[in-house]
Amino acid sequence: LVTTSPLSALSADELAARLTSVREEYDELKARGLKLDLTRGKPGADQLDLSNDLLGLPSTYQDRSGTDVRNYGGLEGLIEMREIFADLLGVDVANVVCGGNSSLTLMHQVLTALLIKGGPDSPRPWSQEPVVRFVCPVPGYDRHFTMLAELGIEMVTVPMNADGPDVAAVRAVVADDPSVKGMWIVPTYANPTGSVCSPEVAAELMAMPTAAPDFRILWDNAYAVHHLTEDEAKSADALSLAEASGHPNRPIMFASTSKITYAGAGVAALAASAENKAWYLQRLGFAAIGPDKVNHLRHVEFFGDADGVRAHMRKHRDLIAPKFAAVEEALSSRLSGLGIAEWTVPTGGYFVNLDVVDGTATRVIELAKEAGIVLTPAGSAFPHGNDPNDRNIRLAPTYPGLDDVRAAMAGVALCVELAALESLTR
Ligand code: PLP
Repeated sequence: LVTTSPLSALSADELAARLTSVREEYDELKARGLKLDLTRGKPGADQLDLSNDLLGLPSTYQDRSGTDVRNYGGLEGLIEMREIFADLLGVDVANVVCGGNSSLTLMHQVLTALLIKGGPDSPRPWSQEPVVRFVCPVPGYDRHFTMLAELGIEMVTVPMNADGPDVAAVRAVVADDPSVKGMWIVPTYANPTGSVCSPEVAAELMAMPTAAPDFRILWDNAYAVHHLTEDEAKSADALSLAEASGHPNRPIMFASTSKITYAGAGVAALAASAENKAWYLQRLGFAAIGPDKVNHLRHVEFFGDADGVRAHMRKHRDLIAPKFAAVEEALSSRLSGLGIAEWTVPTGGYFVNLDVVDGTATRVIELAKEAGIVLTPAGSAFPHGNDPNDRNIRLAPTYPGLDDVRAAMAGVALCVELAALESLTR
């Protein structure tokens, strides 16, 4: 029954025979009583161990200028930490703010400030508009979508391509409708597709005409330095492109060390035009007297400089690249040529994007669950959890051990085939 030709080319009898045999295989899988989890896009304990020297730092409590980091103040963050992010993000240090442990929190602060106060170039606070909409490239990051839903912002989806969001689709949404106030993008090694936004796409997004005068691109560069190969993608220079096209306030960049040092105790950063930065700091000044500069200083001591971060990321790569290779091996050895699945082979980031036969993603996830393999719920990468084609599955292989990734992915590939056969024989 081994075949590498498309299942759609098999006769009804051949399909029925294959379904019987794959069902037997599935029953054997279930009998193994596995307990595996591919849902969590978080670092493994071995990755966290790489940063354990942080626990003994900082060795002093003064920064370069003699500021006592134990005390209040320094709203924009420690200069040495801002310099590291500026280098990594390819922006001027004057544009960078370093905050607490979560970039997601910075994004939430920016959105709530836009809603309550409006931006520097807003005619009125966004909350006073009859409706506010955001462009959402899909598949995308679930927390971006749930944040918008929580804040009452409507979502308009556009396709995510290999070189970034589909610019023609974005243009069509933003050109005439002033209620479309912004968009998300994960420019480098996107969650979950691994796409890297090309400089051309970035330039178009920064230059395109928008009906809203205060249109914002929330440029979430969470995986800027998270390379899986030696072919290291360089992020487009969003701030310069925006400035050059006359829209300096359009992009607001975010990043953090969540998947560099500790996911729960890293440092987050925001980078934006001088006007946006002053606007953000003014709002922040009502909420905080200063960030956790002790954490900034220990990160500065730990890394030294941006090259220290890059060297550290190569250690992460050595730990997780084999897990991504195991995903690729399991999917291609079972599914290549069958015409029932497509998947990404990312060169960075934390995810593999798997598309199965339309209408079967929910079934694949259900079959996997019954066999003890937990996958992210179907539709998670779409606004309101609604994948219109029921085809998308996000795989997150970093947290489990390598053997578990192998075992889980062999099971997932089997479930993909079983669900496809069920659908083809219906
Ligand atoms: N942005 C993206 C695209 C992510 O995938 C994640 C985590 O999965 C985050 C942001 C969360 O970042 P932080 O830990 O800095 O809040």
